[in-house]
Amino acid sequence: MTIAEPSPAIDTLLATRLRNAQPALWTSPARQAQPAAALPALGRAISLDDTHAAAARLARFAGLLAQVFPELAATGGVVESPLLPAAALAPALGLAEGQGRLFIKADHNLPVAGSIKARGGMHEVLEFAEGLAQQHGLVLPGGDYRALATPQAREVLGRYQVAVGSTGNLGMSIGVVASALGFQATVHMSADAKEWKKDRLRQRGVLVVEHAGDYERAVAAGRAEAASNPLCHFVDDEQSFSLLLGYSAAALHLQKQLAEQGVAVDAEHPLIVYLPCGVGGAPAGITFGLRQVLGPHVHCFFAEPVQSPCFMVQMMAGPGEHPSVYDWGLTNRTEADGLAVPRASLLAAELMRPLLSGVFTVADDTLFAQLVRVLDALGERIEPSAAAGFSGPALLTGTTAGQAWLRSTGIDAVLHNATHLVWTTGGLLVPEAQYQGFVQRGRAVLAAQG
Ligand SMILES: *Cc1c(COP(=O)(O)O)cnc(C)c1O
Repeated sequence: MTIAEPSPAIDTLLATRLRNAQPALWTSPARQAQPAAALPALGRAISLDDTHAAAARLARFAGLLAQVFPELAATGGVVESPLLPAAALAPALGLAEGQGRLFIKADHNLPVAGSIKARGGMHEVLEFAEGLAQQHGLVLPGGDYRALATPQAREVLGRYQVAVGSTGNLGMSIGVVASALGFQATVHMSADAKEWKKDRLRQRGVLVVEHAGDYERAVAAGRAEAASNPLCHFVDDEQSFSLLLGYSAAALHLQKQLAEQGVAVDAEHPLIVYLPCGVGGAPAGITFGLRQVLGPHVHCFFAEPVQSPCFMVQMMAGPGEHPSVYDWGLTNRTEADGLAVPRASLLAAELMRPLLSGVFTVADDTLFAQLVRVLDALGERIEPSAAAGFSGPALLTGTTAGQAWLRSTGIDAVLHNATHLVWTTGGLLVPEAQYQGFVQRGRAVLAAQG
């Protein structure tokens, strides 16, 4: 295997840190303040209309979801998370007075799937079901989708299969939703996937296929198997528009939540969003939506484990290149199972080129320390993957690279008015014993730091 040499344009200091698995920050030279309203990605252009269509689809299914999932009865089938003020956490993150307000977007508590994957995964399964409902006349045009819960409709859907490859959380989302609608569901799990996630799926009647290889292998195996079955829909995490647009719908709700909490987003009041990144679909979908609805003064950064910075190496690569983290001499081994991806989605990367502000990496020990800080300051329970964003504010305000970026954007002059929003992406369904293990490791890391 060859070790990638950075192109001369890439900061050699950054390349060294990346290769040595040290936390690093890359900021984008290609971000555009005013990108086109419709952006090309993998041969198709998408726009805010597509985001609205995804949100409308989720709304059409709300009645059915409330019926199928008891945990959604209270919200009438709406799957959303709160925007939580997090000032109590700011000092522990190294965010000083005068450096902006702190919020978290609490997708760690998203019902049904227990992670951000509820957004994209649910949307793609519902889109597939909607197509079949029309094809088989299961629901009248404009009719009530609760008709899909009848035994006759379930019998029709049960002839079809939904398959996916996953490190765990996408499988949980797709598997649970697909089986609840009556589909046959198959989840191809990579070696990173945790036992409790597989158990939970099997209990719901989902077929779990275990693979010894990494995420890419699990996806490839699922794709190959699905290709041989015309009644199988494969959810392709590496290139699915439906997933990405499902994630993007989060932006419409967040826009309302920001307004309700009196958070302005303009030149005087920049919003900086920190999103954990695996293959890139979830953070790219959300970034796409946020840039469309909030404009040039929202800045999105992706956060990855130091051993799995697939999106960073993709953004640093030249046209036509598709590097993996192995090419950089990294292992793709991380406790952040939701982020253990060796090669980024090209769909997400292409879409992000003009939209993204930067990418940073985080050591595993730091993920556990941040998980404990979040528990102690806010009482919120997150999983290690979901902690990746919390290093963002200090990286921007406290490192040379971050400060240079703040100056280059002019944000340094209005930092006191800025809002930092850390997206927490999973945790609700983590079993107690596992969670206590995370907390123990985090407390040990913090104690060692003194
Ligand atoms: C999947 C996942 C992400 C990132 O989503 P991608 O689409 O893979 O980039 C972030 N956090 C958690 C907890 C996840 O499960």
